[in-house]
Amino acid sequence: MNHSLPIVNTGDRFSVNKIICIGRNYAEHAREMGHDPEREPPFFFFKPQSALAQNGDDFIYPHFSQQVEYEIELVIAIGKSGTQIPATQAAEYVCGYAVGLDMTCRDIQKEAKKAGRPWELAKGFDGSAPCTAIQRGTLDDLQQFGDLVLTCNGTEVQRGNWRDMVWAIPDLIAEVSRYIKLEAGDLIFTGTPAGVGPVQRGDELVGNLESWPLNLSIKIA
Ligand code: MN
Repeated sequence: MNHSLPIVNTGDRFSVNKIICIGRNYAEHAREMGHDPEREPPFFFFKPQSALAQNGDDFIYPHFSQQVEYEIELVIAIGKSGTQIPATQAAEYVCGYAVGLDMTCRDIQKEAKKAGRPWELAKGFDGSAPCTAIQRGTLDDLQQFGDLVLTCNGTEVQRGNWRDMVWAIPDLIAEVSRYIKLEAGDLIFTGTPAGVGPVQRGDELVGNLESWPLNLSIKIA
């Protein structure tokens, strides 16, 4: 039960191994964060399993931050282990999709960047990775996906499409597996489109992947 997600339309659960997050994978978001996507390629970092939160759980605002922000992301579920995976074989490793939030303490992240320190406190705190159930699917299913959309209290705040990713999904599987082993049970948060912003206690976030039955709903407590 712990560190797992339900699989849509089955009684099964997807046992979550590690959580890999891609940074600056949409050019417009890289620019809003003050970076030049032409010069700085995407990169990745990790969240611990204890960051995972279930759809519908309250998000507990961390006591050590004054600026927590949402980042809506398309999540890929990895179904098979491998290293040095060529992009042309990436499809074998994708077993499903989810919609997740890469909740971020932006104030702590800014301090860490300035001090040259790691991001774990800003990105890996408890409950910082709320995620829907896993919808099983293949790489080809991407073609059916509409936009990834986030609303906050009913107002649209983020909208993006996987077609605008800097590292498309086969490329990001190839890039990540150049350096680390991908394992069955891994989740890859594929980066957020532009429009990130702060949350307040009492806010309700709803994330959708249009044309695909995934719907994430989180209340900030
Ligand atoms: Mn992110």
